[in-house]
Amino acid sequence: MLIRSLTVRNFRNIASADFIFDPKVNIFTGNNAQGKTNLCEAISVCLGKSFRNPKTAELLPFGGNSEEIAIELCFAFDNMPDKENTITYTQRNNSFRVKFNGIEMKDAEKLYGALRYVIFIPEDLYIVKGDPSTRRDYIDFVSNMINRVHNSKLYEYNKALRQKNNILMNSREWDGAAFMMIDSWNDTIARTGVNVMCGRIRYFDLLAEAANKYYGMINGANEVLSMKYDSTVTDGKDFGVDDPMGLYEMYRAKLRETAERELRMKYTVVGAHRDDISFYINNMPAKDFASQGQIRSIAVALKLAEAEMICSKSDDVPVIILDDVLSELDEYRRSFIINHIDNFQIFITSCNLSDTEKFGHGKVWNVENGKFELREA
Ligand code: ATP
Ligand code: MG
Repeated sequence: MLIRSLTVRNFRNIASADFIFDPKVNIFTGNNAQGKTNLCEAISVCLGKSFRNPKTAELLPFGGNSEEIAIELCFAFDNMPDKENTITYTQRNNSFRVKFNGIEMKDAEKLYGALRYVIFIPEDLYIVKGDPSTRRDYIDFVSNMINRVHNSKLYEYNKALRQKNNILMNSREWDGAAFMMIDSWNDTIARTGVNVMCGRIRYFDLLAEAANKYYGMINGANEVLSMKYDSTVTDGKDFGVDDPMGLYEMYRAKLRETAERELRMKYTVVGAHRDDISFYINNMPAKDFASQGQIRSIAVALKLAEAEMICSKSDDVPVIILDDVLSELDEYRRSFIINHIDNFQIFITSCNLSDTEKFGHGKVWNVENGKFELREA
């Protein structure tokens, strides 16, 4: 999709702003706390969901609750470039409305996913350096983006896991009744866990391959990024989606093997909920050895890989929003991001005015206190 224009009224610290965007690169630059991320958020609100997950009232300008938020975003789908579509988001107090080409949407979140965008926010660095749960959430997000049933598979798995953990919590000793109940839940857990693991691994190699490609473009060819899905079920060994029965047997055996430990610990110690992803740069674990810039480059490469996967699965090219992506990157890497992501429309925020000095195309806005001024070409 191509976002052509945007108007924003009374959204957080942005009283009034109007934009006609460049089809390729759009940069918003200014000091901290001026409104750059707020603008990215205004775009995401129109595309179905704020990436900040705020309470609705938080979007209203401070102290100005009587104001109406009004955002209008005009865009064209790639396969119908001449047809302009409009999304409007209006909000008074806690109640908001979303219209698509003038028709009110009952469930505005339906837009999310239909209108594809990929966003990098600084918190995404935790995909690389944070807890395993952040990486699992990420891989589940990507899996669900490609295959919309993934979240329901995950839901079934988590439900079974909760039930079994409840029994473990309440069993003082390993009696026959507890064994029977746990064994029965283990069957459900292994069945649903295999679905979750296969859902994650199905597109994992594609994601890893694309991330490696973009990482090489950002960092130069002598750095190779690789990714590995580490499963507690297979003890880190690779597995494929072509033998779910074999994986199920392995899952069941692993649950039997850890039954005693589970009873002691009072929770399920192996399974899809304990799996993780490892990132390696030139075969060294990124979590332990990568520099700040390398970690950031991995996160950006993942986002570009995500965008590429969306392209491979739909007719529409997603827009890319990169919020505060350039800090910690050296000139070569910043220049790649600003000048060489050619196949997507991108929106970049940056605190550093010099980031845009060598920038030869697209549009740049200076941001100050919620006001956006288009820089002369
Ligand atoms: P940084 O470079 O530090 O990321 P930024 O330009 O991205 O800065 P924003 O996150 O867009 O900054 O926030 C700009 C300002 O908007 C902040 O001072 C913030 O307190 C303010 N702000 C946030 N929510 C509201 C609101 N509902 N009403 C008015 N101002 C708000
Ligand atoms: Mg910001």
